[in-house]
Amino acid sequence: MRLSRYFLPVLKETPADAQIASHRLMLRAGMIKQASAGIYSWLPLGYRVLRNIEAIVHEEQQRAGHIPMLMPTLQSAELWRESGRYDAYGPEMLRIRDRHDRDMLYGPTNEELITDIFRSHVSSYRELPLTLYHIQWKFRDEIRPRFGVMRGREFYMKDGYNFDIDRAAAIHAYNRHFVSYLRTYERMGLQAIPMRAESGPIGGDDTHEFLVLADTGESEVFYDAAVTEIRMGDRDIDYDSRADCQAVVDEYTALYARTDDTHDAGVFAEVPEDRRRHGRGIEVGQIFYFGTKYSEPMGAMVSDPEGNRVPVHMGSHGIGVSRLVGAIIEASHDERGIIWPEGVTPFHCGIVNLRQGDAATDAACEALYAALAAKGLDPLYDDTEDRAGAKFATMDLIGLPWRITVGPRGLAQGKVEVTSRRTGESEEMSPEAAADRIG
Ligand code: ATP
Ligand code: MG
Ligand code: MG
Ligand code: MG
Repeated sequence: MRLSRYFLPVLKETPADAQIASHRLMLRAGMIKQASAGIYSWLPLGYRVLRNIEAIVHEEQQRAGHIPMLMPTLQSAELWRESGRYDAYGPEMLRIRDRHDRDMLYGPTNEELITDIFRSHVSSYRELPLTLYHIQWKFRDEIRPRFGVMRGREFYMKDGYNFDIDRAAAIHAYNRHFVSYLRTYERMGLQAIPMRAESGPIGGDDTHEFLVLADTGESEVFYDAAVTEIRMGDRDIDYDSRADCQAVVDEYTALYARTDDTHDAGVFAEVPEDRRRHGRGIEVGQIFYFGTKYSEPMGAMVSDPEGNRVPVHMGSHGIGVSRLVGAIIEASHDERGIIWPEGVTPFHCGIVNLRQGDAATDAACEALYAALAAKGLDPLYDDTEDRAGAKFATMDLIGLPWRITVGPRGLAQGKVEVTSRRTGESEEMSPEAAADRIG
């Protein structure tokens, strides 16, 4: 992408009403624009990151054997009356009436809709196990939308639903989600710690939240520092193996990690004192096992091998796709701007032309741009007439992992400069070597 033809409305001033770094930086970097309270337009740069995060979520879900689909944002109130949640959900639900006076709502989550799909088409245990998911906009009329996309009213969420014949099979589905979520966050350069939590309006007993540690997080957390040492890395996990998935869950859950709702000071006291941590975190996902809570009232039954009609065991599993954009920035920025992890960066690198209009420099930039594109990489080429200082400031603000600086002085020696956004270290090399360094 050439910056002269792109739409990157960066702000010079720090927006006054943004209280946390990620919100300030998303506004300043021209990633989002507020449309109304808690509702945002995703400008081109922000949209690229959102799409990258979404792609990782899709890949990891499908790797775990989960099947993508798409359900609508607007739902009929009917199904929610069946589950009993139409009244129970409260003022966070945005209720709408259509021209025929039918009660509708903008979905805050999809347990009812998916259960209806399931009961219409599945009737035998032979069609199980089944996990369906989608990534779709949700609406919750949050009492206090704040921190930009972190607590929006409209937000983008992956929600998945498992249908299983019994508790043991449903726990395996829960564990598959546990493992796939850890992988998902790690690919985004994030550490999210699974913590025992409360189930809230979704219901059920077994639930873990995944939290990114950050002082600006809205959740209070208590954990054993040893849990922050564990990594999924590239372990070879067979998602069909109950033992493989259970082993990962056991490894993480053996160590104390809880949100304040489930915190138990007595149990926490058994953690060695030098490892006890108390801090704050951002909830970037949650998984639930809730058994037959929806299948029973809504009649989602299958025949078991003995021919009995039994309600299916279910769970639901959510990832805050749009919140993750903010959470990644909270975890990775400095005073000059964002520092994108390679896995989600909107462009792989920036090219800064120090003397736009100089034939040799322009040609070198074009050649570099073409070489990077030929390798399947997506550079952002600053081909504007701006001063070098302004170009560097913009690159630092938008946080691309690498900057390649091209100017007449370096070119005289056949060199360009490659700078790492994370370390700030620069190295001179030939344009060919620079193209090899990226990606
Ligand atoms: P919170 O405790 O932050 O209100 P929640 O527990 O109500 O979140 P879930 O029902 O567990 O949310 O939804 C799954 C995920 O969707 C959450 O883990 C979070 O990452 C994301 N999410 C929930 N509410 C919002 C919101 N208002 N804005 C952005 N993301 C959200
Ligand atoms: Mg909530
Ligand atoms: Mg929560
Ligand atoms: Mg939650």
